[in-house]
Amino acid sequence: MSAEGFSAWGRLGWPPAAEILRLPSRSAPLPATAGTLLPYGNGRSYGDVCLNPGGALLAMRGLDRFIAFDADTGVLVCEAGALLADILDVCVPRGWFLPVTPGTRHVTVGGAIANDVHGKNHHAAGSFGAHLRAFELLRSDGSRRRCAPDENPAWFAATVGGLGLTGVVTWAELQLRRIAGNAVAVRNTRFTGLDAFFALNAEAERQHEYAVAWIDCLAKTPRGVLIAGDHAATDLPAPRGERNLPLTPPFSLINETSLRAFNAVYYGKPWPARETVHHRPYFYPLDAVGRWNRLYGPRGFYQYQSAVPPAAAAAATAEMLAAIAESGQGSFLAVLKNFGERPSPGLLSFPMAGTTLALDFPNRGAATLSLFERLDAIVLAAGGRLYPAKDARMPAATFRAGYPRLAEFSSFVDPKLSSGFWRRVMEQN
Ligand SMILES: Cc1cc2nc3c(=O)[nH]c(=O)nc-3n(C[C@H](O)[C@H](O)[C@H](O)COP(=O)(O)OP(=O)(O)OC[C@H]3O[C@@H](n4cnc5c(N)ncnc54)[C@H](O)[C@@H]3O)c2cc1C
Repeated sequence: MSAEGFSAWGRLGWPPAAEILRLPSRSAPLPATAGTLLPYGNGRSYGDVCLNPGGALLAMRGLDRFIAFDADTGVLVCEAGALLADILDVCVPRGWFLPVTPGTRHVTVGGAIANDVHGKNHHAAGSFGAHLRAFELLRSDGSRRRCAPDENPAWFAATVGGLGLTGVVTWAELQLRRIAGNAVAVRNTRFTGLDAFFALNAEAERQHEYAVAWIDCLAKTPRGVLIAGDHAATDLPAPRGERNLPLTPPFSLINETSLRAFNAVYYGKPWPARETVHHRPYFYPLDAVGRWNRLYGPRGFYQYQSAVPPAAAAAATAEMLAAIAESGQGSFLAVLKNFGERPSPGLLSFPMAGTTLALDFPNRGAATLSLFERLDAIVLAAGGRLYPAKDARMPAATFRAGYPRLAEFSSFVDPKLSSGFWRRVMEQN
């Protein structure tokens, strides 16, 4: 099977995998391969955490069966290659929603576990792993373990947020959350300045299940819109299907001029103070244009997502935004959100209490990388960390400093499994 199509979302031009393998069923053993292997979900990670250049990828999408669903309790058991989109299609009409969802539905359950993904309700619900009742972990020695918070708990903690390195998750059991309709009641509030964001956000978190801000990081004083929401007892028609960006333009369509224009229009557009919308545009606005990552042209793009603890959050966020504005390299997809206190279950889970900032950057080579070095220094001085799911370049020292349980985690890594990310941050190349 060709390695074409098995890429990462940032399209930074990594060398391909040497081999693409499959599991014929969830009870099959891992296929033999001479080198290393890495499970591949749906490639929605931005960088090499989902890639194994020169080694083998194990394509998981084929394992997409639903095994059991109890419409009274909302407990779902499905294979790990099932997409969150498939779960929503089946469960929303029956009154159940994902307990935690990232900003795209095109993510597999296995990928959501391996990066312990978070959503706009982290302050209320914690990360994806907090709602996992159990899963099966298949290792290259042929062993299979049922893992749950109270069954093989050490394997559970290593595998949630374990970057696909502890073994292959074959199926998972999830607790969904009840909804009374498919829509979301939204409250939009414009703000100018970070102090205004932190004050508004604190209030929104007390009142709403979901809260996230979009910010214009090119403006002299950061400004943006806080978008809060709750599930509503309303059913609305689903929006029209997604459209794919058909081609990669020969150069990036994202540059300082287009960003400034976009941000000014987006900030200035009429934001109704309150509206009720179908859950799809609320949770997955970017999914409306499939393959929007092609907008960045053939050189691809980076995302930089940090988390910093509460005490340092205001100062570190201000410093990062100032550095980004000064560099003129900001993005239109700048997202600011507070993580809550609920601890993430994984040894390497990214979410930590504090503030997370996520931005996309067109790949401009050395200029972009030197900006990231400045941002790394701010994040590390604040006691924060970067998100492996979004990373394509963090140095080993940055990873080690951000993840104090790394040594403990390393003892659970399957000797047959590896990724481009892992070799980079463990300096194994
Ligand atoms: C538009 C967009 C918005 C996003 N928004 C968010 C967000 O709000 N919050 C957030 O947390 N993330 C977000 N992400 C990142 C995305 O949720 C994660 O990268 C997710 O892990 C991707 O899942 P995937 O199925 O595509 O897996 P891949 O990207 O293919 O793989 C991710 C990791 O999972 C491992 N893996 C995959 N399947 C298995 C398995 N069966 N067993 C063991 N390991 C496995 C892989 O080895 C790899 O380490 C976003 C991504 C995009 C493109």
